[in-house]
Amino acid sequence: MDRYRVTPGSTVNLADHDPGDRSEFKGNKSAGKKRQAELAGQLADLQRLLWAEDKHKVLIVFQAMDTAGKDGTIRKLLARTNPQGVKVANFKKPTPKELSHDYLWRVHPHAPATGEIGVFNRSHYEDVLVVRVLDLVPEQRWSRRYEHIADFEQLLADEGTTIIKFYLHIDLDTQKERLQARLDDPEKRWKFNVGDLDHRGLWPEYMAAYEAAISKTSTEDAPWYVIPSNRKWYRNLMVTQIVVDTLRGLDMEWPEPEEGLDDVVID
Ligand code: AMP
Ligand code: MG
Repeated sequence: MDRYRVTPGSTVNLADHDPGDRSEFKGNKSAGKKRQAELAGQLADLQRLLWAEDKHKVLIVFQAMDTAGKDGTIRKLLARTNPQGVKVANFKKPTPKELSHDYLWRVHPHAPATGEIGVFNRSHYEDVLVVRVLDLVPEQRWSRRYEHIADFEQLLADEGTTIIKFYLHIDLDTQKERLQARLDDPEKRWKFNVGDLDHRGLWPEYMAAYEAAISKTSTEDAPWYVIPSNRKWYRNLMVTQIVVDTLRGLDMEWPEPEEGLDDVVID
């Protein structure tokens, strides 16, 4: 799955990343869905071990344009996990109180504890994405944030957090189809925000902001993955595979039981 990992220090040009790519899985859609479900089960097993070992913390960050599938991916990824050990944080437009603090203030409390998987649905990256594109703070301020963010993530990593960051990559046509589907389906209409169309109109500016953020903050300890996301099943499969592979790489072990348990008799 290294194919989608952004090598630290490299410069990402999203035009070179095909959002319709499906080269890492040979089967068709139904085989892909079946495989994803198996992997989601493996993730549940790994999560039990993570929780029992109580040593590592795992943080998974999702960023994407509207309709790329942050919500759907999180649902499929975590479908089999134990909700007690998973904390999903959603980062919306900051409240006045949040805005009166520094931009990492609202984020840090959601970083996972040992044994937990923390998932960020949007994140501190909004502060160099939407904030940059809409000019919400002067460039002199947002331009220094890449360094803060890299340092913040290094702090989390140094203190035992395994970090994986996903950018779900779709193209404009796919977004158009999905927005249209939201308009047409009475059960999806609630998700439609006319305001989202403003972001769509700024697509090139957003791509440039994503390229800068991903290029400047993909590190050994907090790598970015650019996931082709025009096909939902392929996106879910790749994300789940990468999370499973990463957790496997932690070489976790079940904790040593107490001494003398062989002699215990329960009356
Ligand atoms: P949604 O994820 O569709 O519920 O939308 C959340 C909205 O909040 C998006 O339009 C984000 O761009 C916006 N948002 C999230 N974080 C920030 C931030 N730090 N500053 C400004 N807008 C933000
Ligand atoms: Mg939205």
